Amino acid sequence: MEFINESYINTLLENPKLNDPELQLELIEKARAAKGLSLEESAALLNISSPDLLETLFLTAREVKETIYGNRLVLFAPLYITNLCINNCLYCAFRRDNKELIRKTLTVDEVREETEFLVRQGHKRILLVAGEHPKKSSMEFIGEAISTIYDVHINGGNIRRVNINTAPLTIENFKTLKSFGIGTYQCFQETYHYKTYMHMHPDGPKRDYAWRLYAMDRALQAGIDDIGIGALFGLTDYKFETLALLNHAFNLDEKFGVGPHTISIPRLEPAFNAPVSHKPPFAVDDLSFKKLIAVIRLAVPYTGIILSTRERAELRRELFRLGVSQISAGSRTSPGAYKESQESIEEYEMEQFQLGDHRTLDEVVKDCCELGYMPSFCTACYRSSRTGDRFMELAKSGNIGKLCTPNALATFKEYVIDYASDETKKTAEKFLEREVAGLDGTLKTKTEKMIQRVNGGERDVFF
Ligand code: SAM
Ligand code: SF4
Repeated sequence: MEFINESYINTLLENPKLNDPELQLELIEKARAAKGLSLEESAALLNISSPDLLETLFLTAREVKETIYGNRLVLFAPLYITNLCINNCLYCAFRRDNKELIRKTLTVDEVREETEFLVRQGHKRILLVAGEHPKKSSMEFIGEAISTIYDVHINGGNIRRVNINTAPLTIENFKTLKSFGIGTYQCFQETYHYKTYMHMHPDGPKRDYAWRLYAMDRALQAGIDDIGIGALFGLTDYKFETLALLNHAFNLDEKFGVGPHTISIPRLEPAFNAPVSHKPPFAVDDLSFKKLIAVIRLAVPYTGIILSTRERAELRRELFRLGVSQISAGSRTSPGAYKESQESIEEYEMEQFQLGDHRTLDEVVKDCCELGYMPSFCTACYRSSRTGDRFMELAKSGNIGKLCTPNALATFKEYVIDYASDETKKTAEKFLEREVAGLDGTLKTKTEKMIQRVNGGERDVFF
């Protein structure tokens, strides 16, 4: 039934020939060319355990990441529209049997208020998230929420890309979703390990493993170009999960000529009344987490990697270097929480999982600059129809950076002028100066002109 071949993945993981340091070193060298790796090759790299080889793996992932993405980091915020859910996932606070969770679905006015809060912070990208519910997360409501989000304009600031993370849909409903003007459609398999999947999802529509696994096929068939896959790390062995995730990506690429736009790698966090979340059955330690990120970066060099901001600064710096290209910032994971956080109401009883990082966008931006990463608020590709295979062609030809750098710098400048605190402004202005000074030729001239337009009061400058 499924294309995820568990026994093949297990054979790779058990093959002693793939645990050979000489082969691993050869494969790291091969990966340096940024042409990707096969499943078998990725399995060999996941087996690396010697500190020296791990260091070489990390350095190579860093090199590939820097060649393709430079030091840009795309920022976004999630917006939860409902925490009602008919599923019972053992790891999630929104699970149906969690009778103590305060349930809430936003009204259209509340969607607007939450969006206004995010726009005032300086956000340009939202990830809309919902529990699965026939009425509370219906297509009609999602459509209304998306158009409400796009309608909010405050002093030149607005949300320019709405991505969405919801339950799998039929092809018909995916077509409707596309008509709402979404960016990326995301849905995580959670675990590709069938037996674990059946244990974690005791009932509800999500119990249908294959329906979820083929969600991306249906989304692509419906014409949604940018899709995001992911796994919830901690449910099963991380090596198995990483290979299965890559297997999924390769399969989509073979079938549709374009792989996933992004891969998400959430680690299981403690969640209210979610039995599995407090003691992950296969907790992933920091070193293994770094390794799996590096292997994904080398296996699919052109796929964005998304990370939540909860990790501590030191680890985050390394994860950015190794391949992470998008992070959430200033996040809240319950419906209505942005407004409520201003009124300091206790939100834990409504949130999906516990966040370790409660810093504002402004604080994250400053931190990124200090770490040497350029916060990007760019949404140009999707609005210039550079999606799906057109995006990948540009990325693979090495030309995407020529578009990204000026767009990232111009959108960052816009952020600094309109939203940054005085302290962040100081750090960010110096950072911007250094970044522009480091460019040359037409790229520099183009960027300077775009920044001048932003300085002159123009907003949403991109090409
Ligand atoms: N309800 C839809 C679904 O399950 O696909 C979409 C929204 S769900 C809130 C989004 C994602 O949150 C899930 O796919 C899962 O990976 C993640 N998640 C759930 N519980 C989590 C936890 N305790 N820690 C970290 N991530 C979690
Ligand atoms: Fe519902 Fe999604 Fe949470 Fe599962 S992960 S309980 S489907 S919101």
